[in-house]
Amino acid sequence: MVTVTVHAGRERPIIQRHPWVFSGAIAHVRGNPAPGDVVDVCASDGSWLARGFWSGRSQLRVRLATWDKSQPLDETWLRETIARAVSGRERWLIDPSTACRLVFSEADGLPGLIVDRYGCYLAIQLLTQAMAVRAEQVVAALADLLAPRGIYERSDAEVREKEDLPPAVGLRWGEMPPRLPVTPITALGQPASGVRMFVDLPAGQKTGIYLDQAINHARVGAYCAGADTLDCFSYAGGFALAAAKAGATRLTLVDASADALALAADNLRLNKVTTPAEFVEGDAFHILRRYRAEQRQFDVVILDPPKFVYQQAHLERATRGYKDINLQALHLIRPGGILATFSCSGLVSADLFQKIIFGAAIDAGRDVQILERLAQAPDHPVLLSFPESEYLKGLICRVW
Ligand code: SAH
Repeated sequence: MVTVTVHAGRERPIIQRHPWVFSGAIAHVRGNPAPGDVVDVCASDGSWLARGFWSGRSQLRVRLATWDKSQPLDETWLRETIARAVSGRERWLIDPSTACRLVFSEADGLPGLIVDRYGCYLAIQLLTQAMAVRAEQVVAALADLLAPRGIYERSDAEVREKEDLPPAVGLRWGEMPPRLPVTPITALGQPASGVRMFVDLPAGQKTGIYLDQAINHARVGAYCAGADTLDCFSYAGGFALAAAKAGATRLTLVDASADALALAADNLRLNKVTTPAEFVEGDAFHILRRYRAEQRQFDVVILDPPKFVYQQAHLERATRGYKDINLQALHLIRPGGILATFSCSGLVSADLFQKIIFGAAIDAGRDVQILERLAQAPDHPVLLSFPESEYLKGLICRVW
């Protein structure tokens, strides 16, 4: 077994079960690990700390997966850990049409493995060398445990580059998933907002639907009765659909992607929405400014931009981006209206996000009250020993 020894003073997070060992924490490596190999991690005095997987190229050089010295990280471990993740979500699996995340990487003890269930099909993402070299084991474990109709790999996220892995996309087991309607789950196992959404596993963004927002769609929708609603960064229209279900009088969906807007239009039809809807393709930063120049007003504005920041060095620029769109949005809201604003950048803490919205409110000259604080859906759990697993935050605000 390869042994990785960390510098004196770098043991604490490891003992506290943080799953990442950065390259800078490593004093020396005994042996010559191949990508994804199992390695033991020891303190500077030689005492055993944890066991994990080697990533030869990433700054995150070892992903830890067990703190029990007697636990081998073999195929049985992989199967049992996947089964544990699924068992925590069993109540969401009863209805065969639901969509939900089954495995959320480190937060489920499986660094680099994402599994989403869309009805009878599974979408997988293998984002570390450890999972990439175990692809066949992962697929076999999921096929045995869940007997899906098909398993489709969507490992085309940019983070694969950091692991020196090329994109990997395609059918890995069973039948090719068709474009199919699914119902995102809620905390109680009921359909989120009673909406159905199309999933196109080969063509959709990420693995299909933004499941992390499924509950928030309904939470925000609840403020949209009788509201002229702007869903900015709409993607497949999750918020617009919930708004329509709740009785919005008008929908405006803005997204840079024509495909996303076409999917949103299909989703509105699928749910028999008759609310007047306008689909605007373009850069939200420009469109919000144009609406301000045109003095357009809305009762509810929803902002759900993509991740703006991937590294600490870009945090300031991202902060300016968040402030800018929120400032523009505040100008468009009728007094007493609602701003529902999100950030999925893990590096932007809930505290910083609130400060950004505060700054935007001051500059806009508006009084803003927080009504609700929102987070990622419970099928994307936050592991206490891994605060990085908490990434999505949102505020529902009243704007005077
Ligand atoms: N609100 C959606 C998820 C949004 S994902 C939901 O709840 O399901 C972010 C979306 O922003 C993507 O669809 C992407 O196409 C879009 N996007 C990215 N940059 C943009 C920009 N500058 N202007 C408008 N849309 C943008």
